[in-house]
Amino acid sequence: MEKYTPKKDLVRKLSEYAKGVFTHKTLERVKSCGDFMQHLTNLEMNAKKVHRSNSCGNRFCPLCTWNKAKKDAIMLAVLMQAIREQEEQEFIFLTLTAPNVTGAELKNEIDQFNHAFKKLFDRRNVKQVVNGYVRKLEVTYNQERFITRDMYKRAKDYYDKRNLKEGDHNPNYDTYHPHFHVILAVNKSYFTSRDYLKQEKWLEMWRECMNDDSITQVDIRKVRSSEKSENGAVLEVAKYSAKSNELYASQSVFEIFYRALKGRQLLTFNGLFKEYVKKYKQDELDQYKKQDENEYTHLLTSVWKTSKYENLLRRLSVGEFEEYNKKFKDLEEFDDLN
Ligand SMILES: [Zn+2]
Repeated sequence: MEKYTPKKDLVRKLSEYAKGVFTHKTLERVKSCGDFMQHLTNLEMNAKKVHRSNSCGNRFCPLCTWNKAKKDAIMLAVLMQAIREQEEQEFIFLTLTAPNVTGAELKNEIDQFNHAFKKLFDRRNVKQVVNGYVRKLEVTYNQERFITRDMYKRAKDYYDKRNLKEGDHNPNYDTYHPHFHVILAVNKSYFTSRDYLKQEKWLEMWRECMNDDSITQVDIRKVRSSEKSENGAVLEVAKYSAKSNELYASQSVFEIFYRALKGRQLLTFNGLFKEYVKKYKQDELDQYKKQDENEYTHLLTSVWKTSKYENLLRRLSVGEFEEYNKKFKDLEEFDDLN
């Protein structure tokens, strides 16, 4: 349960921040999220699968967003494999950004992003080559007062241009950075076709659609068919819209995130991806799912007591053993999502 405990701590933080924001009923549900959990496991406890849990389903809940991200990652990996094989598609990973904004500007900026995205994908030359996409809205928050070594290394050019070095005041302190991560499906022939869109073209179009000449970057790369490359794209799109250390940085930061993100569609499917989500939900893509090869012999019951889980492990009865060891799908992989 070592992975759950820190998340359960965050649930407590969220319940404090959300007092004046959530309704009483929602707040009570969130507070008790993950208080009771059962995992199927074995004596060594090296394989675990959620059997039952009380979860609140709130999109700001650290436990529920973590679980959803894992499920989304599994689904996306299946969708990509199926689309690659059945539709003979290749994938492109696109990241669309703009300069940081203040908390007061965030909500409008996300509206602007949505609007600009629609404009971009309505363009004739884009429509012509993109057969579908999956898009994730992510917002990061910059809470460093001073430029750290890591930040400097990651954006050396940016700081050098502004004559800034490690330890200087961070010009983006207390700002928000909304951006889109997108996986595009294109025909195999796209990369050698006349309709191929270069990175500079994407940048130019994104600037026009956002109506913002200060945008200097659009990141676009081909997703190679290796597992590593594909998983990288999948994890970027599946992961949470807000990192927990940022979302719960303070009461006011939480409220800004909340007002900007509530009611929004965070993960969007279009074209081939939309079609294949339907197939996935109707179990038509089961052949692409990994089979769970584990054998479950025990049941672990965990109950949250103030600051930690109390665990009880017991052996499954013969009947339970047979019932729970029918070949499972949806392995709990993508455990590298923390
Ligand atoms: Zn929850």
